[in-house]
Amino acid sequence: MTDQNPHLSEANGEGSFQLYAAHKKIYPARVKGLYRNLKWLLMAVLLGIYYLLPWVRFDRGPNAPDQAVLVDTLNRKFYFFSIEIWPQEVILFVGLLVCGALALFFATSLAGRVWCGYACPQTVWTDLFVMVERWIEGDRVKRLKLDQAKWTTKKVFKKTTKHSLWILISLATGGAWVFYFVDAPTLVNQIMHLEIGFTPLFWILFLTGTTYLLAGFAREQVCTYMCPYARFQGAMFDNHSLIVAYDEQRGETRGKHKKGDSWDNRGDCVDCHRCVAVCPVGIDIRDGQQYQCINCGLCVDACNEIMDKVERPRGLIKYDTLHNAVARSRGHLEKVDLLRSRTLIYGTLLVIFSAIMVYFLAIGRQLVELNVIHQRNPLAIKLSTGELRNTYTIRIVNKDTQNVSFKLSVEGINNAHVTVMHAAERKDINEPILVPASKVRTHKVFVDAPKGSFKKQNDVRFTLIGSNGQSDVYESVFLAP
Ligand code: SF4
Ligand code: SF4
Repeated sequence: MTDQNPHLSEANGEGSFQLYAAHKKIYPARVKGLYRNLKWLLMAVLLGIYYLLPWVRFDRGPNAPDQAVLVDTLNRKFYFFSIEIWPQEVILFVGLLVCGALALFFATSLAGRVWCGYACPQTVWTDLFVMVERWIEGDRVKRLKLDQAKWTTKKVFKKTTKHSLWILISLATGGAWVFYFVDAPTLVNQIMHLEIGFTPLFWILFLTGTTYLLAGFAREQVCTYMCPYARFQGAMFDNHSLIVAYDEQRGETRGKHKKGDSWDNRGDCVDCHRCVAVCPVGIDIRDGQQYQCINCGLCVDACNEIMDKVERPRGLIKYDTLHNAVARSRGHLEKVDLLRSRTLIYGTLLVIFSAIMVYFLAIGRQLVELNVIHQRNPLAIKLSTGELRNTYTIRIVNKDTQNVSFKLSVEGINNAHVTVMHAAERKDINEPILVPASKVRTHKVFVDAPKGSFKKQNDVRFTLIGSNGQSDVYESVFLAP
């Protein structure tokens, strides 16, 4: 891999390096082709999902919000259609993150930085901003000339229009993000009536600012200098991973070519620099594999356009593997090896973790949770009847979307008498404990044991069974002073 980091570029003579290089603005040119179309399609799908998802409604019954995807910070719950994740289930988030990371590793081992080139938010929003820039200021050469030109009314108008549109997109992006954390129609209503609270306003403005700066100005520098994934992804691909590569053997010796000239004793590269002009990170893929390359395939489209024009076969730049590049140069057979240890390991782990997550989210999720806290002060009370009483606080979490009646039982001490306090009212153990949908209830519980039925320390087990068939148990102790 060629290191073309300008910060480490050789300056004046051997061993002398500049640690700083000024940013050079990149003016990616318009290109048409398969990979560009794929990027447009993905961009439309991803942006569509991002902006529209907070407006999708999902009926969870009368006691729950009807926004399909909602991070309810107030009640500390995450809703995703029929899935409702409680704070106690943070492990599920960890599982989802692990699945996401494994999917990324798997995709990288197959096709290098495709995530960076096609689906990363930084790439998608930069593409959108460049598209707006192109609409208003024109393609590469026109933009270059406009930036070098003196300030005129026309230039001020174009720049103002572009930045206004960028700010509007940024505002919509920041706003959409906040809609995932509050009820979207309610927040819009608050915004319309200038009643928005400080926290949502702060986040909308903060995200508007970061979107404007990162997609409008920082662009490829985020991928090159800021993103940690760009730095360690090299460890995830090998000689058989698909990367965008220039076929040096076929392309060299490069040089200008006029129609009708012979192609003998020369390469197919006509040195038109079209592949460099379209590159969003501003590199020349003909210099070899470089860490700045995000595998977007735009130089493939650009070079294919040129090859069609000069009537040479397509694929001078293409998705290729390092293995095949070496095989070609040695006259060996090329092959695409998808099933290799790296892809098999990542793929298998991804399937296993995804299956576990699907099981826990769809079938095996515990909808009831019981916690029992033994009251320490006093540890036990001797009643006038001669019985010994221990007091507990039970906490019942009903994660179901329906109201549930629970029955509590206690095992471990013979003939123990159990009383559940419902608010200030004392009720018998047989009285069901009603917990509304998606709610938590706490109750005081007395366990009274007859004289002679207990030791100094006794293990007891509380069992909670719900009318929805869900149950939970909690091991505790019954103590004598
Ligand atoms: S070199 Fe090609 S694949 Fe790599 S970032 Fe530039 S245009 Fe995209
Ligand atoms: S686009 Fe193709 S022909 Fe033109 S410079 Fe790049 S590799 Fe050579």
